[in-house]
Amino acid sequence: MMKGKGALNANLKLSLPPSAEISFAKFLTESGTFKDGDLLVNKDGLRIVSQSEPEAPPLIKPSVTDNDNQLSIEDFDAIKVIGKGNGGIVQLVQHKWTGQFFALKIIQMNIEESARKQIAKELKINQSSQCPYVVVCYQSFYTNGAISIILEYMDGGSLADFLKNVKSIPEHYLAAICKQVLNGLMYLHHERHIIHRDLKPSNLLINHRGEVKITDFGVSAIMTSTQGLANTFVGTYNYMSPERIIGGNYGNKSDIWSLGLVLLECATGQFPYSPPEQAEGWTNFYELMEQIVEQPPPWAPSEQFSPEFCSFISACLKKDPKERKSAHELLALPFLNMYDDLDVDLSSYFNNAGSPLATL
Ligand code: ATP
Ligand code: MG
Repeated sequence: MMKGKGALNANLKLSLPPSAEISFAKFLTESGTFKDGDLLVNKDGLRIVSQSEPEAPPLIKPSVTDNDNQLSIEDFDAIKVIGKGNGGIVQLVQHKWTGQFFALKIIQMNIEESARKQIAKELKINQSSQCPYVVVCYQSFYTNGAISIILEYMDGGSLADFLKNVKSIPEHYLAAICKQVLNGLMYLHHERHIIHRDLKPSNLLINHRGEVKITDFGVSAIMTSTQGLANTFVGTYNYMSPERIIGGNYGNKSDIWSLGLVLLECATGQFPYSPPEQAEGWTNFYELMEQIVEQPPPWAPSEQFSPEFCSFISACLKKDPKERKSAHELLALPFLNMYDDLDVDLSSYFNNAGSPLATL
């Protein structure tokens, strides 16, 4: 492995599949497109053009391989740090050749070779996502004790960032946001058989087009499976379902619980469980866990919200996962379509409410 100093100086390598062996400099065409064999690079990004399917090139998702056909991380310019989480930082980076922006997430994690292999495998699975409601993961590496992931850049940041600015989100916008999240969950749960495990406002990203996408689903699975090894990881357990807290079996419905809490928090502007009096916040993690397990689930107050919203929230926040609806079932509830006549424009809402989105 190459030695490097910092995140972007670290001589990380972007691996390309053997079929995409390239020498970019040779193939600049008049339209600003680099092309060699199966690989095409232009201002819209990197694509593999399959010989048999020239009309429908998917976005490239080079896999983590040990071959030598690699692009260097030095092909990206670091623009700025755009976020910090418990496990590491997220930077805005720009691909030097195409000008395209990406988010580079770097998670510090000093782990053994065997765990590294496991992570590479899981991230590779992650890279095959093809869904407009899930943040694309283009490439991932493990080097010098850090996992680095090249992600689709979402210029509105997270729903957590947005909520800080707007304080609360009106129901009609929430319905439009929720539909997209449910479509993302349908894809993860039913097509990919992935439980997110860490659905929360900071893992829902937004952009100026009014799109809402789920992120960090692979990362949370890795963190869970290698938790003993991840010395820096302290997750947020606030959105964890009762069945997970008590250590029982859990499945897709666990994400639906989290979604219910996220929606209720967005609607009211407050995390649905309130800490004991006097305390300034949830200082005692066990007290919160106990409330989630012991107390009746939170609900949307009927004097402030529509009956459709209230019953949608209660369908998500059933303590028994068997009684909780699935993503598919939730999509049929009236709350999601009751505002269809309003032609809700999330794009202008995200652009104009709160502080302006990052401009490039
Ligand atoms: P935690 O570490 O507790 O899970 P988190 O989800 O906020 O918290 P990160 O996933 O590291 O931590 O993300 C930090 C912040 O970086 C996010 O809140 C968001 O503002 C920003 N961010 C993450 N990914 C992207 C992305 N692909 N595009 C734009 N901004 C992003
Ligand atoms: Mg996150």
